[in-house]
Amino acid sequence: MNAEIIAIGSELLTPYRQDTNSLYLTEKLNELGVEVAFKTIVGDNQRDLVSAARIAISRADIVIFMGGLGPTEDDLTREAVAEALELELHRDPEIISQLERRFAGRKMKMSPNNNKQADILAGATVLPNANGTAPGQWLSGKYDDDEKVIMLLPGPPHELKALFEEQCFDRLRAKVPAQFIATRVLKVAMMGESQCDARIAPIYKEYPDVQTTILAGSGEIQIHLRSRHISLELAELRVEKLAEEIENELEDFIFAHKGESLEQIVSYYLQMRNLTLAVAESCTGGLLGERITSVSGSSRYFLGGAIVYSNELKTDFAGVPPELIAKHGAVSREVAAALAEGIRQRCGADLGLAITGVAGPTGGTEQKPVGLVFHALASEGGTEVIERSFPGDRKRIRWFATQQGLEMVRRKLM
Ligand code: AMP
Ligand code: MG
Repeated sequence: MNAEIIAIGSELLTPYRQDTNSLYLTEKLNELGVEVAFKTIVGDNQRDLVSAARIAISRADIVIFMGGLGPTEDDLTREAVAEALELELHRDPEIISQLERRFAGRKMKMSPNNNKQADILAGATVLPNANGTAPGQWLSGKYDDDEKVIMLLPGPPHELKALFEEQCFDRLRAKVPAQFIATRVLKVAMMGESQCDARIAPIYKEYPDVQTTILAGSGEIQIHLRSRHISLELAELRVEKLAEEIENELEDFIFAHKGESLEQIVSYYLQMRNLTLAVAESCTGGLLGERITSVSGSSRYFLGGAIVYSNELKTDFAGVPPELIAKHGAVSREVAAALAEGIRQRCGADLGLAITGVAGPTGGTEQKPVGLVFHALASEGGTEVIERSFPGDRKRIRWFATQQGLEMVRRKLM
């Protein structure tokens, strides 16, 4: 069975508010093996709502409307669903007395426009809302010639969650055939998206029952595998089998087998090998240290380091000879290596990692264009330098640089 979630509210179509409820609902629906096939966001407009409702009811087995159940003029969900499904609305006197009692309990007088929150669609079950005034509604039966489940839920996230959890989840479970979803996320560092896909497409095409999605970010490709079957064992088995084949193909390009971040993997290796790390950052301005220390327990292996933006501090804090900078420039293979060796020594770390580059958009030259970054990793056995030319804006270049730096540590230790 599939579902459509309709988020209702004009504020959700502005740059200032986001529909977060659907993320929660998707998680819950997936728990029941229900895939979300469509998400729609509609403003508080009766005509648009009716049109969205008609489309949803024609194409999804489960339709969840949320928001627009309040007492004000712009709360139109009940009316729109009634129009789309050609159902009568009945005002339920019991709900009106409950609303009146709720207001009286707070020493407030109920205003007449609250009455419309008692309007119930013909055939609907009322879902009492312990956290707000708008009750939800549940419809199940033949609509648009097919068996459907239709829900109307309040918009405020704490009301929606409590109501769904307590009153919809088990009701829904009884309606949907038992299905289970298994997922795995593999991550690949510093590989092109098309190159990656060319290698794995022939493999995942053999698994039509496993949905494979490739998401490319800065210096990272995520391969999301997702399988739905009548038993959890079977769903997991299919995902595991495909994951194993992809792992065999991409080998050590894969850094995470279960969705871990690169900094988590680096953390894992440093602890396993019982080694410490220090960093010297120029163009990343602390982003590398931020990523490393975002992992809980990083104090066990991360000693610290320096943000050495000026040439003087490259010398003072990381011991880079001024002549070296004068001769090769701050963005150079030689200075990167000296930074890594210097910070390793000053901090007494097993590994010294350094990044120096041109993040742009200004400061590039013909010899040293924007995006040129040198990464160096110093260890007892010597120093390795990698030169890269990253595309994109300042933010992307800086992220790429940290990704490459962390990847060097991973490759060194794996
Ligand atoms: P409503 O039920 O339309 O009166 O919505 C009440 C409030 O709930 C809105 O002002 C939003 O702050 C919040 N809300 C409504 N829909 C959503 C949604 N899809 N995701 C997150 N918050 C929402
Ligand atoms: Mg609203």
